[in-house]
Order: sequence, then structure tokens, then C-alpha cells
Amino acid sequence: MRSCDVLIIGGGPAGLSVASSLSPDILSIIVHQDSEIGKPVRTSGGSFLSDMRALSIPEKYYQLIDRLDFYSDKSEALFNIETDKMVVLDITGLYQYLASLSDDKSRELLLSTKFITTEQQADGSFISTIRGRKSGEETIQSKYIIDATGWQCAVLGALGHGRKPDRTGIGTEYEFEQSDYPMNRAILFVGSHVLSGYGWVFPTNYNRIRLGVGVIKPDTDESPRDVMNALLASGFLDKLGVKVPDDFETNSGIIPSVAFEEKVIFGNMIRVGDSANCATPIAGEGIRIAIEQGRLLGEALSKTIAQKSPSYLQAYEKSYGAKYARDYKIGFWANQRITGYKPADWDKSVRRINSLSEAQMIQLLRSRFNLKSLLRTGFLHLKRKLFG
Ligand SMILES: Cc1cc2nc3c(=O)[nH]c(=O)nc-3n(C[C@H](O)[C@H](O)[C@H](O)COP(=O)(O)OP(=O)(O)OC[C@H]3O[C@@H](n4cnc5c(N)ncnc54)[C@H](O)[C@@H]3O)c2cc1C
Repeated sequence: MRSCDVLIIGGGPAGLSVASSLSPDILSIIVHQDSEIGKPVRTSGGSFLSDMRALSIPEKYYQLIDRLDFYSDKSEALFNIETDKMVVLDITGLYQYLASLSDDKSRELLLSTKFITTEQQADGSFISTIRGRKSGEETIQSKYIIDATGWQCAVLGALGHGRKPDRTGIGTEYEFEQSDYPMNRAILFVGSHVLSGYGWVFPTNYNRIRLGVGVIKPDTDESPRDVMNALLASGFLDKLGVKVPDDFETNSGIIPSVAFEEKVIFGNMIRVGDSANCATPIAGEGIRIAIEQGRLLGEALSKTIAQKSPSYLQAYEKSYGAKYARDYKIGFWANQRITGYKPADWDKSVRRINSLSEAQMIQLLRSRFNLKSLLRTGFLHLKRKLFG
């Protein structure tokens, strides 16, 4: 039987980042069901320049965005972003780079290999069953196990600590070349074309643009494919300056859309990334958070193993909750409200976005809510109710 200190299930940004920040003497194995890291693409890759710099991600893995346009059926809000600029990530390139950061460690990467189940032993260790596409079934013994399987929450499910989320965002994206599209401009659109969700146009740094739509299930019966087909037939894309050719690549993915829970440590089993519901509740943006949390978890786990003390992991869990819980609770409340919006509500919302400063709009996208802006929103709401 293979054995290791830390078994990481899932080779997305969260799992890869845990591996890259473990101490070199810790033996880790990553089990990843896909045959390549970063392929197929299951995400659209919008993020922020300041975060990519803080995470030391090389510039070659993103396209800089300094214009962001919001559209609903009858309103628009157009921003030239001067300060907190956005980026669109080259997902395959970035994830392969994240994997390379643990190449020089005692880390094994098992591709085309699916985690099936795990059982905790009396001494707290785990015996996990995995199945390789060619190598078949085998077991791995590990002291720790990390659930980095994204929305699938595969390890949580196997150990009875949780299950797949019952509310999810599902997205479909077409990727293609369009030579006359301005590659510094991203678009977000809402309204009758994507009623229970939103659509986006994200240009990449490899000369292609991504046109996507995401819907929330079970809030709507429509599939993203139905929504995309109706959008293509609607003529709305002409208004956005987007022309879809006959030949395009399709990406699709799923993200949890449920209330945030602060608990991430279950003894020697830890969840990170989307399996810990890390993505922002307003825009569903989780890549930078998965990388950051993965790295912090790797460091905390290394100290816990070296010092034989759980206090480092406990501090990690506490800081995760302190950083995100309040904003994500407010953001999730808003997320539930807006999925019931009608086109006229979206027109009103986009008009409100148009009245925000650039900094306020970006804070909203980041699902960050400071007390001052909450009080101001509450005051304006009250004023409207009292005086019309
Ligand atoms: C349509 C869509 C659009 C999005 N847009 C953005 C965006 O613009 N910006 C942004 O920052 N975030 C976005 N996100 C969210 C972002 O993709 C996630 O927050 C991020 O990928 C979380 O990383 P992760 O490593 O936790 O999980 P994942 O990226 O989901 O990685 C988990 C990996 O585990 C593997 N796996 C699952 N089960 C098993 C198993 N049993 N055995 C072995 N391997 C397994 C999967 O194949 C997967 O590759 C989007 C998500 C979706 C679905």
C-alpha cells in the first residue's frame, strides 16, 4: 500500500496550492481525476491584478482588464477602471504553473485517478481507495486527508461530514477568436437573457474571448445550454459587439451556491477551496481565494505536523472564518434575493451600479461590505420608503 503524510484529493487551485506550501520533508500525494492539470477548463477566470501580484502569479498568466461594462435589458453602467484593475486568467497555464510549484517537493501527482472513498482508522489515519483509469483500484494510507474536490465535496461525503451542495451555480462558456473585440474590456450582463444568474464576456491573453452564462439550480429549470441558445438567437450580443463563429470551444463547470460555514477542520480531515464554499457569493469568484487559502493551509499543516500541535490548524480555521464569514453571509442573502429578480428589477439595479464610484462597484463585485456603505444603503432605502 502507498502511504504519505498528506493525501490531497483534487488538483484544482486549492489542492495544488496546499501541496506547494507544505514543508519539503512532508510526503504528499495529489489524486486528480482529470488526465491533465487545468484541462478541461471549468471556470471563467475573472480576478484582480492586486491579488495576482500579492500571490506572485507571473504576468504571462493573465490578461489585464481596465474597462468593465454592465448591461441589463434597458440600462447600462460603463466603468474605466483606474485603481483596482481586473484580470482574466489563462486557466490551463496558471494551474500548470501552480502544479509546478511543488515539483521540487516530496509530492506525487496521480492523474486520471479518481478518489472513491476513505475510512478513518482508530489511530486517526485514513485508508483511502482510489481508481486509476489504467492502473485500477488501490489503497493509500495517510495521516491527513484534504478535500480539495470543489463542489463535489467527495471526502466530506465519504466521511459523513457533509455532502454535495443542494444549490449550485452551473455555467457554460464558449471560447473563440474575435479579431475586432477590445481585449481590455470585460462585460457582465443580466436581465431577461439570463434571468436566474448572469452572463459574461471575458477576453483572454491568448487572443480568444470567453462568452458565458451561469444559472442557479434549483432556482431555475433552465439549463445554461438553453439560456445560451436563446441568447445566441436573441440579437442581444450585437449590442455587446460580440460575434460567435461556428467554431468554438465549450467549457462548463459547477460552483456551490449555499450559505457559508466556518468549519473547515474535522480532526485530520480538512476542506479547502470550493469544498469549503470559498467563492464570493455575489460574483462566484474563488480562484484567488482557493490559492491563498490553500497556501495558508499548507503552512499551518506543516507547523502542526512539525510541532505535533493542532493549534496552527485551529488558528487557520479561525482566520478563515474571521476573513470571510460576515461578508459572505451578507453576500449570500443578496445572492438569494437577486435570483428572484425580474428584468425591470435588473434595470433598476444596473442604474444603481451606474451611480456607484469605481471603488464601490469593485467592492460589490468582491462581496466586501463595509459598515459605512451598509448604513448608507439602509438609510437610502428608508428614505425612499418614507419620501418615495
Ligand atoms: C461557470 C463558473 C465560472 C466561474 N468563474 C469564476 C471567475 O470568473 N473567477 C474566479 O475566481 N472563480 C470563478 N469560478 C469559481 C472557481 O472556479 C472556483 O472557486 C475554484 O475553481 C475553486 O478551486 P478548487 O480547487 O477548490 O476546486 P476546483 O477548481 O473545482 O478543483 C477541484 C478538482 O478536483 C477534481 N476532483 C473532483 N472530485 C474528484 C475525485 N473524486 N477524485 C479526484 N479528483 C476529483 C476535479 O476534477 C477538479 O479539477 C467559477 C466557477 C464556475 C463553475
